[in-house]
Amino acid sequence: MRHIAIIGSGPAGYYTAEACQKTFGDDVRVDIIDRMPVPFGLIRSGVAPDHQAIKGVSRRYEAVALTDNVRFVGHVSVGQDISIAELGELYDAVVLATGAPADRPLGVPGDDLPGVIGSAAFVGWYNGHPDFAGLAPPLDGPGAVVVGHGNVALDVARILAKTGAEFDGSDIVSHALQGLGRHRIDTVTLLGRRGPHQIAMTPKELGELGDLTRATAVVDTADLPPLAEDATLDPGQRKAVAHLRAFAAHPGDKPIRVVFDFFAMPVAVEGDGKVERVIVERTALDKDGHAHGTGETYAIPAGLVVSCIGYRTPPIPGVPYDEALGRFANVDGRIAPGLYAVGWARRGPTGTIGTNRPDGFRIAEQIAADLPGDSGKQGRPALDALLAARKVDVVTFRDWQRIEAAEIAAARDGAPREKFVGVEEMMAARDGV
Ligand code: NAP
Repeated sequence: MRHIAIIGSGPAGYYTAEACQKTFGDDVRVDIIDRMPVPFGLIRSGVAPDHQAIKGVSRRYEAVALTDNVRFVGHVSVGQDISIAELGELYDAVVLATGAPADRPLGVPGDDLPGVIGSAAFVGWYNGHPDFAGLAPPLDGPGAVVVGHGNVALDVARILAKTGAEFDGSDIVSHALQGLGRHRIDTVTLLGRRGPHQIAMTPKELGELGDLTRATAVVDTADLPPLAEDATLDPGQRKAVAHLRAFAAHPGDKPIRVVFDFFAMPVAVEGDGKVERVIVERTALDKDGHAHGTGETYAIPAGLVVSCIGYRTPPIPGVPYDEALGRFANVDGRIAPGLYAVGWARRGPTGTIGTNRPDGFRIAEQIAADLPGDSGKQGRPALDALLAARKVDVVTFRDWQRIEAAEIAAARDGAPREKFVGVEEMMAARDGV
């Protein structure tokens, strides 16, 4: 028997559990430990609430969770309730699937002014993550600046641009729906330090921006390279750029403008006690495609700045960490004997949810190679005894199903659920109070 502890119940955690099941069959027991009483990490708290089809992948993780050899061990904080070293004593392998939930800092003067928010916080707010439910972002307008030209920036711009009715069928939490319903933002500027050919948005998601009720995507034709140069792009990128060309060719006149500002990098955020404007420097690309400032600057008025420039994995004391890359130091997922990393904690914040599936198999293969036989470690019963002695109130997958049933029962008409946004509320729902 092999005993495996996975820290983190997001896509990387569940795909790794599934891979361990397939690799070891009945010869494995996997415990997926999460500090939250609710599972699925990024699926619940990161994927946009109006992308329910993507969130549907949690049904696959549920099937894994309901088998006998995989357990969800929720509401257990590694580092507080139990240490990595202790887990290493109990389990043959400890796999860090903790994702990359910390924002990369913008790193310009004024980025600490109220109203400058990282995407983890803003996305966590509209998705009801307990850490960010109380954020109350300033939505008085007139402008919002979203820094970055990736899919997270696109999510944030779309969420700001949609009408209340366009959230029908989504599980956006009520506090965000109400806050967004009152907002007075008429311009959302998407700042990208490079050009249309370097955009990191994917075509399907970019296309959605062309179908919004009250918002128009604005692209300046002058920013687009000659059409013939699109032939140098890979097919996906060419499709994304085709959307930008369509936006440029068909300027709309809806009340909210989502403006693509290319070759533009923030150099300062200014305001009297809160953000009022972003100072932007025009860029040019060098021969390697890197952006550098040209010295030309201008100001964009903004009451809200959301920085969507990537994420970092928070370090864990005692675990080797790569500061420059913002993730655990590892070689192909191996951190140290018996300690592994998967997903964004291994490779950084790139790729789709599905990228984690092969990642999980790779780690399962490595565990199989590193642990050819039974080590005699105790796994589950020893963890249960230790957490009971420490009076940790563990949440099981069955408990989560009770919480979920209460969320479904509380849903607005047409919505799949109304999420609990506080840990205490989640625990009360589990207890039926
Ligand atoms: P991303 O795709 O890496 O995009 C980050 C953006 O920030 C890039 O445009 C980058 O520009 C820019 N940037 C980085 N550092 C900057 C700086 N210091 N100043 C100005 N701009 C800066 O990251 P992401 O949007 O956070 O997405 C993370 C991953 O999740 C991606 O793989 C994404 O596709 C995925 N995701 C997918 C979906 C979906 O499929 N619906 C939704 C959300 C996220 P440069 O290119 O110049 O570095």
